[in-house]
Amino acid sequence: MQKGKINVQTENIFPIIKKFLYSDHEIFLRELVSNAVDATQKLKTMASLGEYKGELGDPKIEIKVDKEAKTITVSDKGIGMTTEEVDKFINQIAFSSAEEWVSKYKSETEANPMIGHFGLGFYSSFMVASRVELHTKSYKKNSKGVLWTCDGTPEFSLEEKPKKTRGTDVILHIAEDSEEFLEESRISELLNKYCKFLPVEIIFGTEKETKKEKDEKGEEKEVTVEKPRLINNTRPAWTRKPTDLSEEDYKSFYRELYPMSFDEPLFHIHLNVDYPFELTGILYFPKVKQNFEVQRDKIQLYCNQVFVTDSVEGIVPDFLTLLHGVIDSPDIPLNVSRSFLQSDSSVKKISSHITKKVADKLEELFKNKREDFEAKWDDIKIFIEYGMISDEKFKERAKKFCLLKNTDNKFFTLDEYRDHIKTNQADKDKKIVHLYTTDQVAQHSAVEAAREKGYDVLVMETPIDSHFVNMLESEQEDVSFVRVDAEVADKLIKKEEEMPSKLSDEQKEKLKPLIENQLDQQSFQVAFENLSESDNPMIITQPEFMRRMKDMSAAGGMNYMGNLPDSYMLVVNANHPLVGKVVEESDEERRDKQIRQLIDLAMLAKNLLKGEQLTRFVKRSVDLF
Ligand code: ADP
Repeated sequence: MQKGKINVQTENIFPIIKKFLYSDHEIFLRELVSNAVDATQKLKTMASLGEYKGELGDPKIEIKVDKEAKTITVSDKGIGMTTEEVDKFINQIAFSSAEEWVSKYKSETEANPMIGHFGLGFYSSFMVASRVELHTKSYKKNSKGVLWTCDGTPEFSLEEKPKKTRGTDVILHIAEDSEEFLEESRISELLNKYCKFLPVEIIFGTEKETKKEKDEKGEEKEVTVEKPRLINNTRPAWTRKPTDLSEEDYKSFYRELYPMSFDEPLFHIHLNVDYPFELTGILYFPKVKQNFEVQRDKIQLYCNQVFVTDSVEGIVPDFLTLLHGVIDSPDIPLNVSRSFLQSDSSVKKISSHITKKVADKLEELFKNKREDFEAKWDDIKIFIEYGMISDEKFKERAKKFCLLKNTDNKFFTLDEYRDHIKTNQADKDKKIVHLYTTDQVAQHSAVEAAREKGYDVLVMETPIDSHFVNMLESEQEDVSFVRVDAEVADKLIKKEEEMPSKLSDEQKEKLKPLIENQLDQQSFQVAFENLSESDNPMIITQPEFMRRMKDMSAAGGMNYMGNLPDSYMLVVNANHPLVGKVVEESDEERRDKQIRQLIDLAMLAKNLLKGEQLTRFVKRSVDLF
């Protein structure tokens, strides 16, 4: 038996490993199973190259938990190691890489976590084990079994110990504070999280299977047998060729990824790059709808089929984190902090490649299946709008397929829509005025009024539409966006001709304070407009600028506007006969009642009449008879 001391600077790195990875102890299993996978694949490769001529068998990896003995064993039938290799790979290389890892990790703060903690490797077992045994036998001819043991101090022992089968068993003697890992359910959970798609079969525990068998008499009988439980799918969809996969294969892979999800994805993108970086994956467009915040963190990041994280922030552009699916790339540096990641050039390339692929797919759908694309629009619109607002390159691409929907549920591209309204909705300054509603129910009367004038009205009902509208305005100089209730219908699009006013200036001066007295002057301003007699006597509008700023801050991004009160304009139709009548009313009490009634009607049309005001309005209206 050989005893030795691992040559280290730090007297004892294990307490440090433990301390710095407190919340992530569970990754030991991923590291050990990954090593077992590597060892198995190396052997397979050598066999296929003819360098290994012995039997290969069916080299599965097996995990065993022994609650009594308090051990977890990870066994593979891979290449194994000779005594010299154990000394080199485990005592020297593995240890020094663990040491290097610790010194790097020590300088990172909690707030700046490393993305995948990869690189710690074999020594991560000491996060959960008080003693680790590695019992291995190399595939090489005449190899003998070797047992390496270490209790977490830099001292180790290395001895010959017969082993029947080729490959490696790593036996962890679980430390007292880590006994949670002796629960089968915990190990199952971890295997399901990290190993679900590893390329070598992994078995853990057993499961029951009922089979039909014929007994001695030749009668069919159901028998239950216990068989090893397979943990993983070794050939997940993203590793296969798109031409070998049907639409149903993609859908069933989605269910495999998200067993709890009820919705089907809208469509998918299969990523497959091998130059200048390696990347595979499948991204799915989910039904995003309105609640896009809760849908994040659904993309899973893998490195050679090993699960790393489901937080891909920094690797894909922000708006793409709304997508679901899998990205697998060995080229994403995993043992670095997120802030470092964003400046990494291969990560930048990956990010812009993914953006480009997503735009390609959307454009292709739009061109080839426009009807289908329109049918899915409500589900993907937030995603596309968010992308256009936040990503310059995506915006340029998306201008071609971004759609606008009007109140007739008709869809237009930006250019088509411009053409559609340019003659009818150009104002005196040659701006093409796009009218929109953010709530077809609440703004019903304003929408109707605009449509009666022959205008087209767009539907912009999602929270980020205010930002989106702003972006479109700044993109196209001769375009402006105005919500239907920003002005009275007549004034939404300012044309040259002005109607004469029936009310004289003196009458206006007399009426204005009488109206103002009955309004909350913090929120309301009073203005006279020369409208037609068929328009309402008083109309409440919400000027575009302030309202849009407020909407934008509510949707996020500009908090300082959020607390301001809404600002409204009470427009008095200077040509309405009732307005003329009210001014001339000599009975003051009666006059004020009439003014109140007209204000309330305007409030009612805007859905602003509530509580006591509404009760009084109803009473007053009944009293009119
Ligand atoms: P890494 O896997 O990142 O190289 P590790 O510390 O996990 O680092 O392992 C160090 C080395 O030990 C590996 O590169 C490999 O050569 C060897 N090794 C570890 N586990 C096994 C195993 N199960 N079978 C064969 N060799 C192994």
